[in-house]
Amino acid sequence: MDEGIGANLKAVVKDLLAKNEDLQTWTTQDTLTGLYNHAYLQDTLSREISRSKRHGHELGMLFVDIDRFKEINDDLGHPAGDKVLKRIAEILRGKHGQGENGFSLRDHDLAARYGGDVFVLVLPETPKGSTAITAERLRSCVEKHDFGPGVPRVTVSIGIAAFPQDGSERDTLISSTNAALHVAKKSGRNRVVTFAAELAPDAPNMSWQERVNIQRINALRSSIVDRAFEFIYQPIIQSKTLNVFGYEALCRPRDKTFQTPTELITAAEHAGRVCDLGRALREAAVMPIKDLPAKFLLFINLHPQELNDPALVEVEPFMQPWLGRVVFEINDSKSIGDQNRLQQTLSMLRRRGFKIALDDLCSGYLGLHSIAHLEPDFVKLDMGLLRGIHENKRAQRLIRHFMEYTEGENIQVIAHGIETDQDHELAVNLGCPLLMQGYLFGKGKPSI
Ligand code: GH3
Ligand code: MG
Repeated sequence: MDEGIGANLKAVVKDLLAKNEDLQTWTTQDTLTGLYNHAYLQDTLSREISRSKRHGHELGMLFVDIDRFKEINDDLGHPAGDKVLKRIAEILRGKHGQGENGFSLRDHDLAARYGGDVFVLVLPETPKGSTAITAERLRSCVEKHDFGPGVPRVTVSIGIAAFPQDGSERDTLISSTNAALHVAKKSGRNRVVTFAAELAPDAPNMSWQERVNIQRINALRSSIVDRAFEFIYQPIIQSKTLNVFGYEALCRPRDKTFQTPTELITAAEHAGRVCDLGRALREAAVMPIKDLPAKFLLFINLHPQELNDPALVEVEPFMQPWLGRVVFEINDSKSIGDQNRLQQTLSMLRRRGFKIALDDLCSGYLGLHSIAHLEPDFVKLDMGLLRGIHENKRAQRLIRHFMEYTEGENIQVIAHGIETDQDHELAVNLGCPLLMQGYLFGKGKPSI
């Protein structure tokens, strides 16, 4: 062949190959984020499912949907929304993983933009439990990520499902993952929901709310069984000496279905399992601090319904070593119900060796009269009640009388929510609280 023609042909072939590569990239990639696109995901998922069937492997799938993304577009403009989408894509590629528990994918995992603000991850050869861990890491990584000036906190909701148990074919697996995502959205966003049979779109006659409730009840059940709670211990300080007097145990649910302790407790109320939850929480609260020196008191919150739990008064074995050192805090609640019965239960608890604190006195249902009826050892006053009384002589006198009264009755007052030096000074100047608690003295630590 003529040399000139040969060189020409080579150039044409090279050009064609390059164009073909461009075309492939173009047809498989999402132009905005550079991740794989919807079409590529569908093909790959089918292939991966076939491979998993052949080798008997599990496969995990995640739907990741940005929470309230429309608001980002509306408030900051579409280009800012685009930047957030690109940044999420970078996080998915592992560019912003954070340390040991950071988020990263393995080489054979697949990240794709499914469309709009929805991303998909496919994790071949991954059991469901590990998929859930990856999902939680991703959720937490996005929540902590700084998306740049002016962009408020961005969070994602994630639904997960696994082959083969939640779908043995591509479309059923997608539909299960999507159902889990829906429940994550409906139950409050910024959370991971794992698919369960009751969440299936074709489950009979069930509203989304019922599905959400089922999912929460399942999460509650496993949290109680696994004692899936962490506690932080917030110091309570003596106002004069600034020495630590005791600690309040504050629960942090480990299952991210519950973003706050209130969500956990509400689920227990709905499921009628407040007492079971309370027992599990008491045990989980005392376990990590078995060696707490005896001079410190431990404050534990009680739900009013727990006051009807015989186990509380009978004293469970794990509470025995704590007799004389635990203060049960009764929170303000409408469900406290019969005050006479409450009075009896509290005096029984006191006879067993527990002390009693009334929380958030005067801010709600626990009015001033409860101090006389319930004979607490401690009362907690929120700083919100005390702030702003500098100029009000009457209010100051009222607080002083209150302090005199409590002192006379041998009740110790805890000013709660001391956040600044001014709060501290005010509480001391009012001559009031013997003990104080709040961020100024530390948010609390997982151990003491
Ligand atoms: P939710 O928490 O329920 O997910 O609420 P949301 O506001 O995120 O609502 P939804 O997921 O339904 O809406 C996604 C929005 O994403 C709608 C659309 O305007 C926007 N969007 C879709 N594609 C793009 C894009 O390429 N760039 C930008 N900036 N916005 C997009
Ligand atoms: Mg969204």
